[in-house]
Parts: sequence; structure tokens; C-alpha cells
Amino acid sequence: MKTPHTRDHWESLASGLNVRTQAFIDGKYVDAASGKSFDCLSPIDGRSLGRVAECEGEDIERAVRAARRSFDTGMWSQATPAQRKRVLLRFAELIDAHAEELALLESLDMGKPVGDALSVDVAASVRCMAWTGEALDKIYGEVAPTGPGELGLVTREPLGVVGAIVPWNFPLLMATWKLAPALAMGNSVVLKPSEKSPLSAIRLAEIAMQAGIPAGVFNVVPGFGKGAGEPLALHMDVDGLVFTGSTAVGKHLLQCAGRSNLKRAYMECGGKSPNIVFADAHDLGKAAAAAASGIFYNQGEVCTAASRLLVEASIKEEFVALVVEAGRRMQPLHPFEANAPMGAMVDEGQTRRVLDYIDKGVAEGARLVLGGQRVEPVAGGCYIQPTVFDDVAHDHTISREEIFGPVLAVIGFDSEAQALAIANDTEYGLAAGLWTADLSRAHRVARNLRAGSVWVNYWDGGDMTAPFGGYKQSGNGRDKSLHAFDKYTEMKATWINLEA
Ligand code: NAD
Repeated sequence: MKTPHTRDHWESLASGLNVRTQAFIDGKYVDAASGKSFDCLSPIDGRSLGRVAECEGEDIERAVRAARRSFDTGMWSQATPAQRKRVLLRFAELIDAHAEELALLESLDMGKPVGDALSVDVAASVRCMAWTGEALDKIYGEVAPTGPGELGLVTREPLGVVGAIVPWNFPLLMATWKLAPALAMGNSVVLKPSEKSPLSAIRLAEIAMQAGIPAGVFNVVPGFGKGAGEPLALHMDVDGLVFTGSTAVGKHLLQCAGRSNLKRAYMECGGKSPNIVFADAHDLGKAAAAAASGIFYNQGEVCTAASRLLVEASIKEEFVALVVEAGRRMQPLHPFEANAPMGAMVDEGQTRRVLDYIDKGVAEGARLVLGGQRVEPVAGGCYIQPTVFDDVAHDHTISREEIFGPVLAVIGFDSEAQALAIANDTEYGLAAGLWTADLSRAHRVARNLRAGSVWVNYWDGGDMTAPFGGYKQSGNGRDKSLHAFDKYTEMKATWINLEA
């Protein structure tokens, strides 16, 4: 569902917006200890959104200390599940009550269509918080199957202080995927948003307080990876580190955990997801529309982007024509336009990176059949056309590396076995999709795809009820569902001698 609001509505809301830019530590907005700040630019048109506190070691120290103190008092960690549930449900209601403001911050900060920010990012954050709140008082421990002389109890306890480092592509939602289960289990959290999109997380801290999260239980420390993220990852008093971002940084953070205190470390990383279309698919038009939105939605800045389109040779020409037609209709517009199919790339750096990949695709001999250019629907903004390369060889750079932009690589195949071999020949394993009317093939291929999420006859299905995460170098944990609680708890076995 797209927003019914006009561009004027959002511009007028933006002009009255009071943008919070400080860190949030121990229940208060504060400047960075160094007094440093960095400029936060909107990729929509290059406008400055303010100067954001640039947290570094000393700020991380303060935030971790506040988190530890709050944890040790027990005011949150020892609250009853019913009490925590009430607060999380209130938190969800308040996020919903601030939906337009949060959607606007998201759109201004990272360039996505504000309609999507409202109907997807904010709506899914509300659902995540509410679902998690609802679930948390239905978690039971276990009684071990012992003999009559002893009792074995298996219980979960919060980790303590959790550091969360999140990316810029779904800033509010990725923060919420970490925050909700961490809080639900009684932890205190220090969240480092991406330097490219810190605003919604900064605002969220205040909303959390309003909901009843005690001071110190949720802290937000904006800053850069090296300056703020690394001290958090290396901190000896952080018990858990949860991350969503690139595979390279995820690997580095695992080393930080090992070099410091062996903190529990869970990484959700990148992807290069295959979308396989067999000639017997029910409806090629629908499959083509899904293939286009699977790569162009959110400007292709999606970890599960359907970036590799594998098409059976007998229908390839026809199918690529349909995808190109669907893609042509998804040109970037000002993100405040009611039905903008795509908005702006997150910043200049990412725009250049994606354009470099496009140049590489051409240089390595793939056939550019749609887009490929930077465009300017808004002066001073970062926009790239929906781009499709046909006849991509499996060893081309654009077929192997995560581009994180609106660039589709089309690869042909002749048999199911070949499709599976190409699909699985990647270091990633986040998601995969397949289109077929053959039930046996659907199950067979789904079973053999090495990916954490597999979609049959659609793309990007899923909600809070199922876990989300990757195989291989796409990650080592799961967000969402009851399984997410595993990352935020220690498991304790208590043995009681009944014959004492
Ligand atoms: P990134 O890895 O560059 O940054 C992610 C976060 O890590 C940011 O907050 C950044 O400041 C921080 N960081 C960077 N270097 C660091 C360091 N040395 N120490 C500590 N922290 C550091 O990723 P990005 O560009 O923000 O996001 C895009 C990536 O995120 C893509 O690879 C995408 O696939 C992935 N992603 C994965 C999922 C998932 O659930 N698997 C979801 C969304 C995005």
C-alpha cells in the first residue's frame, strides 16, 4: 500500500520537523564527549538534516556503563514478563502513533520512498515490537527427563548488556529486529545506528522512554564504524553483540568478539540471491513483475534483493522482455511522490559504487538491456535507473558480488540441475526463489537450495512467525520468530538433588 499523501504534505511536515541529533545515554540526549559531530545529508536533494553527535570510545564507555547499571538494578531485567510485555505493547503503539514522523525521517535520511517507509518499515517495526511483546510471556523453561532422585531445570536468562550495530537500508526495522527480542528477554541495549541513517534510531530512544523503558536500558550512540562500532564490539563489559550489515564487517566483528571477552556474537550479513524461473511457471507476467520489484524495491538496497535472475533458456527472451517492461515502469522519483517506485540511493558513495559495478558489467561483456545511468529527478540527489544486464556469465563480477543497488544480472540455464548448481555456487546463502507449476520440482529445488529463506512462486514472503537469517557467509544467527530469543539469552541448567 502506498501513501495517499501528496508531496506537499510531506514537504510541509518536513519543514516543521524537529530533528533529534544527539546521542541518547542513560535516559538523556547528550552531545558526544569530544563535542564532535558529523553532517547528515539527505540523498533526496543534498539538503543538510543537521549535525549528528559523533560518538567515540568515551561515549561508548558511558553508554555501556549506563546499560550495565540499569541491568544490575533489575528494574528491567527482573521485571516480570507481564510487566515487560505491557511496556513493549505500549512501545509498539507509540511507534504507530509516530508513524508519519518516523517514515519521514527514514525517507529524508536514506532516500527511500516515504510511502514504503510508512507502509513497510514503520508498519513492520510496529508488528515486530507488538508480536515480540505478545510472545514474551509465553516462553517456558524445560524440566529435564531425570530419574526420581533429582530435578533438572533448563531456564533462560538475559545476557546482560547487548551491543547492536545496524545498517542503513532499513534503519528503523533492523534496529527493531534487534531491540525487541533483546528488551523482551530483559537485556539492556546500546544501539549504534549507521552513520548514513542515524535519525530514526535517535528518535526511537525517546519514544522508548515514553513507553516506560527505564533510563539506561536503551541507549543510542550514533557514529562511524571504527570510532563507535569498534569500541562497542571490543568492550569487555558487553555480553552480546548483534549485527546486521556487510559480510566483511560481520567477519571483522566476530574477530573483535574473539579478541575481547568472547561475547556472544550474531551476524546477519549480505546476499546475492538467486531467483529461478522455470519454463513451466504458472504466470510469466506475474513472475516478471516480481523479478523486477525483487531487485528494484528500495533501490535494490535490500539484503534479500533478487539480484541474480536465472531463467530457463526456452523462455529467456520472452521473460527478459517482460522484466525489462516491468523495470522500465519503476523509474526513481522524488521519494515524497505518492507512488514513487524507487527513491534515492543512500548517498554519493553508494551511488558511485553501484555505477562502478554497472561499468564493470559492460566491460566484462554482459548485455545492458535497461537503464545503467545516473538520473536527476530531483536536482542534487542520488538516483540510478533500474538496470538490467542480460547474458551475464556466472563468473562475471556483477553475478558474484553484492552490488546493493538496482542492478539485475540475468543468467540462462538448461536444466534443473544446472540451475541449482549456479544458484548455490555463491559464498552467500540468505534467500532464494523459484517459480514452477510442478509441485515435486518446487519441493525438490527448495530443499536443495542452500539459503535461509526460500520462496516458491513469489518473492520476499514472510512475517514475524518465521526465523530470518542466512546460510554460509550470509550470517550465523536468526532474527524474528521465537528463535530470535536464543540470541539474547543464556541457557542455564540447574540440578537439584532431591535426596539431600
Ligand atoms: P556495513 O557493514 O558497512 O555497516 C553496517 C554497520 O556496521 C554500520 O552501523 C557501520 O557503521 C558499522 N561498521 C562498519 N565498520 C565497522 C567496524 N569496523 N566496526 C564496527 N562497526 C562497523 O553495511 P551497510 O552498508 O550499512 O549495509 C549494507 C549491508 O547490510 C549489505 O551487505 C546487506 O546485505 C546487509 N544487510 C543484511 C541484512 C540481513 O538481515 N542479513 C539486512 C539488511 C542489510
